[in-house]
Amino acid sequence: MFMREQTRVDVREIKEESVPEGPEIHRIADWVREKVAGEVAEDVRFGREELGEHAETLTGRRVESVEPRGKSITFHLEGGWAVFTHTMLYGRWYVLGRGEKPKGKKKVAFAFDTPEHTVMLTSTNRVGVHRAHELETHNFLSKLGPDVLHDATTQATARRALEKHANVPLGESLLKQSVLSGIGNYLRAEILYMARLHPGTTPAQLSPGALDELSELVLSVPRRAYEAKGFTTSDEYIASGEASGVERRELKRWIYKRDGAPCPECATTIVREDHAKRAFYRCPSCQPA
Ligand SMILES: [Zn+2]
Repeated sequence: MFMREQTRVDVREIKEESVPEGPEIHRIADWVREKVAGEVAEDVRFGREELGEHAETLTGRRVESVEPRGKSITFHLEGGWAVFTHTMLYGRWYVLGRGEKPKGKKKVAFAFDTPEHTVMLTSTNRVGVHRAHELETHNFLSKLGPDVLHDATTQATARRALEKHANVPLGESLLKQSVLSGIGNYLRAEILYMARLHPGTTPAQLSPGALDELSELVLSVPRRAYEAKGFTTSDEYIASGEASGVERRELKRWIYKRDGAPCPECATTIVREDHAKRAFYRCPSCQPA
């Protein structure tokens, strides 16, 4: 019997965060890369009409690399071509068996086939075709701060990035992709909780030791989420929770979306409040104003 390989991103998991952040985008890029790197892109298609002229140019070119940066993914194709993509709020990635379609009515933003697969991004307008050398001045990519998931981003890099915005509250600067890229709303809450900091704190108010610790956490928390498939919590915390009968999915986050629950550190009730126009979660005892 012929078994067609059919893999698909775990859409449910991405929907749970509503907007994928750096760790989710990097995992999607790994997974797409594994299926398409080195393959020839056939029948390239775009949702935006003005990109139509590029479809033919790109068809038949080999996919050389798939590079995530912040919350974007860029495909490099043979001959110095690049396709920039961003999922924005509603975009979803699929890798299907060739010729298959995702369930439901989805607007294709960018898609191509390989001999075995159909790769598809739906429901976003943020797709562009560029010459690779133009990417340095790309209006989105050129404004991104260091990617917290890239190996080249070190604690010293992160510290410098935070120091550049010494008087901006961390609840604002951590969401700005121009400061550090890849951090979104759940990572902001988890990082500041781990650092035991109120979101109104500015880097200028921190001792050198506290700034060192924070610049370590802005890298280690997203990297933990990447490696542990979205979990920011520690293995110990997950194991002890499961041992006392708590469901695994309830143990995914220290504090994010856990308002009303006790703080894992001190049992004070976690509160939800807005910071920089986004929902934030905080332990009033561990992260006092
Ligand atoms: Zn607490």
